Amino acid sequence: MTTTLIDNIGLLVAADGERTDAAVVIDSGRIAWIGERAAAPAADERVDADRGCVIPGFVDSHSHLMFAGDRTAEFAARMSGQKYAAGGIRSTVAATRAATDEQLLANATRLSAEMVRGGITTFEIKSGYGLTAVDEARCLALAGQLTSETTYLGAHVAPVEYQDDVAGYVDLVTGTMLDAAAPYARWIDVFCETGAFDVDQARTILTAGRSRGLGMRMHAGQLGESGGVRLAVELGAASVDHCTFLADADVDALAAGSTVATLLPGAEFSTKQPYPDARRLLDAGVTVALATDCNPGSSFTTSMSFCIAIAVREMGMTPAEAVTAATLGGAAALRRDDVGSITVGKRADLAILAAPSYVHLAYRPGVPLVSRVFVA
Ligand SMILES: [Zn+2]
Repeated sequence: MTTTLIDNIGLLVAADGERTDAAVVIDSGRIAWIGERAAAPAADERVDADRGCVIPGFVDSHSHLMFAGDRTAEFAARMSGQKYAAGGIRSTVAATRAATDEQLLANATRLSAEMVRGGITTFEIKSGYGLTAVDEARCLALAGQLTSETTYLGAHVAPVEYQDDVAGYVDLVTGTMLDAAAPYARWIDVFCETGAFDVDQARTILTAGRSRGLGMRMHAGQLGESGGVRLAVELGAASVDHCTFLADADVDALAAGSTVATLLPGAEFSTKQPYPDARRLLDAGVTVALATDCNPGSSFTTSMSFCIAIAVREMGMTPAEAVTAATLGGAAALRRDDVGSITVGKRADLAILAAPSYVHLAYRPGVPLVSRVFVA
């Protein structure tokens, strides 16, 4: 294997602190050396960071890339005053069921390439737009061609053929659909919200997945407070995602437990909801992640930089906290210790910014500052 020296780094965001005039050596896909550039060892290749800032690759722990169809009109209607409701998912379900494997994979490949160009070096993909045993398994198998972080979200919303029999749908999700999906999934997820699944159903679904060896994650607190967040903590889920509406008891539970609170500001942007209060969570000692929630209905962005800018401007995070949440926080939400920070021994996932500081990710919103990305 060749070694690569990333030289002339103006500011390096390393796990042990920020360094100026730094260099990094990559060997066999791992970070092999970090230090002052004057002391850098020889390497086979040299990359000039041009005095830019080097940050860890972003870890996007929440996306819904496996879908077909278009919801532009729904977005336009919402921006004209209509309110977001969970039922819009069903139009994407119809399009996804009708799509070929090639169409689904091509769309997800295009979107994941956008992610990587923008500095995301690890990403999760959920199913959840198939909602039959065959279509959920198919979507997860396709997602597995793009990432090892695949999540079974049969419990996204009850499909139209089960809209009057949600209990029957929960039986399917925890029965034959789980049988079909589990071989292709690392995680199980449930949308615990009014209009989707209640707390008792969420418990049934997550524990069924756990019994099949899947890790647990949950959507909760997007549209209102519920017991979902406390259930996620009680079950030891890796992450509970959205956390926009939280009771004090939810914050206390998160602070005492091991479940990461993953915030998805792209969803609030696109649905005109209030943003989650990251400051409240950080001050309570909760581990916070930022993720894109990329999906065609409520957050159609692949840009972690956009999420960071909102988190800094609207959610009470400092720029440093937002970058940590988008890197190490995402890694914690996926229970990964091999990615998320620039440390000797970790996977060599890095982004070079065409900017002197990571602060520019929020200071210069909307500007494509990621100039080069290394994945392993
Ligand atoms: Zn989601």
